[in-house]
Amino acid sequence: MESKESDAKDLLSIVAPAYNEEAGLDKFYSRLIGAVKDIDINLEIIYVNDGSQDSTLEIMSKQHEKDSRITIIDLSRNFGKEIALTAGLDHASGDAVVVIDTDLQDPPELISQLVEKWNQGFDVVNAKRTKRNGESAFKKITSYIYYRFLYQMSDIKIPKDTGDFRLLSRNALDALLELREKHRYMKGLFAWVGYSQTEITYERDQRYAGETKWNFLGLVDLAFEGLTSFSVLPLRLASLLGFVTAFLGLAFAVIIIIKKIMFGDPVAGYPSIVVLITFIGGIQLLALGIIGEYLGRVFNETKNRPLYLIKDIKPSDYLSGLDE
Ligand code: UDP
Ligand code: MG
Repeated sequence: MESKESDAKDLLSIVAPAYNEEAGLDKFYSRLIGAVKDIDINLEIIYVNDGSQDSTLEIMSKQHEKDSRITIIDLSRNFGKEIALTAGLDHASGDAVVVIDTDLQDPPELISQLVEKWNQGFDVVNAKRTKRNGESAFKKITSYIYYRFLYQMSDIKIPKDTGDFRLLSRNALDALLELREKHRYMKGLFAWVGYSQTEITYERDQRYAGETKWNFLGLVDLAFEGLTSFSVLPLRLASLLGFVTAFLGLAFAVIIIIKKIMFGDPVAGYPSIVVLITFIGGIQLLALGIIGEYLGRVFNETKNRPLYLIKDIKPSDYLSGLDE
């Protein structure tokens, strides 16, 4: 509390979630420090250990012993990146905060550009990927399509090809922290808060070490999360589908009746019935599934559990200065 007043420099908080990142964490730290040393700003690093099973926490702790600008938030288990990020953001004391992956796919060297835009008065500076190195063609294509699909479907415009790497001003961060929903699609929430947003572009690097934590099902889940958190259009599509099917059914009935009365055709039997039952059954299940996706989320929100649990905090100088 004492030193804060006299220090006129702004404080930049770096929020970095890590899950089993032992192989790259020291490299991350050294590149980060190298990248920000020429920026005229004070630095705070907030590591979130998202229930790693390897030595990630030990490596963080070693860095923490040497560098009093580091805070470590050790979560009680693996909560997933979106929640880990939230835990880090909750504990950021900076005038601005940068969210960055610890696998060095988001180059720390770009932070100076993010800060520059912030100094120009922007509240949110997104880092947009122009190229993704070292990722499978399948992931590139599906994510390309997904981002555009989501953009069309959602009520707010979630920037395309933009990950979580970005800078938020204190204003934007405070606004974001008001959103306590359990299903957190961070990219959407960042966009939802609004404020003056801008972007810089970069080529996304390969992972420095280790492997991506996302498998196919995890990505599908995230995709649904984005869709259901920011759009109710699928529900409307379900009603539309029901409406169209009912209309087709009616038209079919009229055709059958007319055929019977005018031409005395016998009613077609088994095959047509099976086709109709399976078709309509399928549509019903689809509509139920869509409702279920939303209902499950409502269920999770109403349980009102805390977003995350913290096992331990090792505070930086900045955080210990706060009376929490
Ligand atoms: N991460 C995390 N919790 C998780 C999964 C990932 O904190 O459950 C972190 C991970 O350590 C990394 C970042 O989130 O710093 C991005 O993860 P990853 O590289 O696996 O995702 P990708 O870059 O492939 O989208
Ligand atoms: Mg990565």
